[in-house]
Amino acid sequence: MKTPGKLGYCFGVSQAIEKAVAFAEENGPLNSLGPLAHNEDVVAYLREHRVTPITMEEVLSTAVGMNVGITAHGAPPETYDTLKERGCQVLDCTCPIVRKAQAVVSQLMDGFDVVIFGDPDHQEVLGLNGWAGGAKFVGTFNDLFTAGQGYKRLGLGKRVGVISQTTQIPPLFVDFVTTVAHIIERERFQELRVFNTICPIVAARARKTNELAKRVDLMLVVGSLESANTANLATVAKPGAGADNVLIIQNADQVTAALGNWYAEAGFPSREAVETSFRIGITAGTSTPIKTVNEVVAQVKEIFE
Ligand code: SF4
Repeated sequence: MKTPGKLGYCFGVSQAIEKAVAFAEENGPLNSLGPLAHNEDVVAYLREHRVTPITMEEVLSTAVGMNVGITAHGAPPETYDTLKERGCQVLDCTCPIVRKAQAVVSQLMDGFDVVIFGDPDHQEVLGLNGWAGGAKFVGTFNDLFTAGQGYKRLGLGKRVGVISQTTQIPPLFVDFVTTVAHIIERERFQELRVFNTICPIVAARARKTNELAKRVDLMLVVGSLESANTANLATVAKPGAGADNVLIIQNADQVTAALGNWYAEAGFPSREAVETSFRIGITAGTSTPIKTVNEVVAQVKEIFE
């Protein structure tokens, strides 16, 4: 059983959790605009420490002056304005790497038609879109094509700027940028400006996960189905471990059931044959606590060793 180096929270998530808990201890209950980490166990831990996720609609429909936390994913400028208007005390937990991407899109792409590579509904991307003053296109690789698999017309101007959601995977960003370049070459572009705003921690973990997946028979990705980073790690593990041999699990309680389903679906002759000869790799999203990862590792060791 192997892991791709250091796992557990990235510094952005760990900093946000520490700041929020310390704030709530000192100032009373804190409402975070969305979960501070896309991990159900972490959300439960934070609730115990009086940090509760809330939506913007709930902020608008409750009394003024509440304590509101911006998560590590950041928020658009309008959100800060609204919170200020409502007299909220704001704790800004935006990750410094996300803040840098916001600065790139708001300061270095002035006069450019902005294209954002990422999930249009993700909190971080909504924030980046706001700092861009409204991107001309937001989406992933497949969104660049029509149903007939031709290039979509993007209708971009002469100067085009492209950035990425920080938790995307570098090779996918390269494919995306290359395709955008092909598309705008047919339109009227003169200048293409690309900033690699992908988080280096995410990039390194993705690369190591991909390398590890090539050396094992089964990859377990520990994290929430809600986490963009966990989903992306599962994607980069697939070409190595094989698409059917990558399982996403949230915690140690799910290990036995997930493996049981996998044995049955894969049609292995005997469970014992798998457990004595298979090589297992374990990776985890950046919002998965190290405690959860260690519990999964212990559970897998108990089964396989
Ligand atoms: S994954 Fe990277 S960008 Fe996202 S919160 Fe963690 S350190 Fe920040």
